[in-house]
Amino acid sequence: MRLQNKIALITGGNSGIGLATAERFIEEGAKVVITGRNQETLDAAAAKLGPNAVAVRADITDDAAIKKAITTAVDHFGGLDIVFANAGIPGATPLGGTDRAGFEHILNTNLTSAFFTVQAALPHLKSGASVILNGSVHQVLGIPGASAYAASKGGIGAMNRVLASELAPRGIRVNSVVPGATRTPIWSTRASTPEAVTQLEAGFARAIPLGQWSEAVDIANAIVFLASDEAKSITATEIVVDGGTIGAP
Ligand code: NDP
Repeated sequence: MRLQNKIALITGGNSGIGLATAERFIEEGAKVVITGRNQETLDAAAAKLGPNAVAVRADITDDAAIKKAITTAVDHFGGLDIVFANAGIPGATPLGGTDRAGFEHILNTNLTSAFFTVQAALPHLKSGASVILNGSVHQVLGIPGASAYAASKGGIGAMNRVLASELAPRGIRVNSVVPGATRTPIWSTRASTPEAVTQLEAGFARAIPLGQWSEAVDIANAIVFLASDEAKSITATEIVVDGGTIGAP
């Protein structure tokens, strides 16, 4: 039980990596507040996670909604020890066909909102708390057509180091996970039929020396480590979970 009595906020905890992390956190003894926009998947996740989880409908771009989720953690479970700023969206932003609003929507969701989630949580975080940001291999791979997504995740990498320095004097650690291709619903916009999924997976797998996509729980296991006291000397770092990805597909 590596997270016994810890209380965690997981944005985007109703799906994919966030939900897998909520499950692993609870297995390790934590209590979790999960957020998302979709009430149906929030309800399903809450039912799956059981009494040690509370689901709060909150758009990550809405400061008041995020504050409500944080207040729920404090009021319902009695504090806040772990923040996993995970919620994010993909989106094609080719140079030749992207408007300012579309570009900024991705940056606002993936990067700006992670910053303001940590800011809103800060008054409740004590020495020993752990913040984990969700990056992506896109931040270094240069995959065409994904400027906004890659920039948002590159921003996460840079912000990770800055926030770690800022919060170290308060005994709060900040780290990032950097997932490669991971089997979650985020890919449904790219492949909606089983054949398309197979084709997409095979294409990416060619760039993965271990030869296969990660599962959400593979990322969650790294997050459990970063959140736990086993990582008490680790801050400002990134754990890459990508099967050794060597380039764009
Ligand atoms: P999912 O689509 O399964 O999960 C995305 C989560 O983010 C959902 O819970 C969604 O909830 C939430 N979310 C998105 N926008 C908002 C918003 N405006 N407000 C609140 N919640 C929001 O995908 P993943 O689990 O794969 O993605 C999780 C993170 O992992 C993302 O940051 C993604 O960029 C990152 N990542 C994923 C990789 C992969 O291959 N799967 C690889 C690298 C990084 P709802 O829709 O209910 O709002």
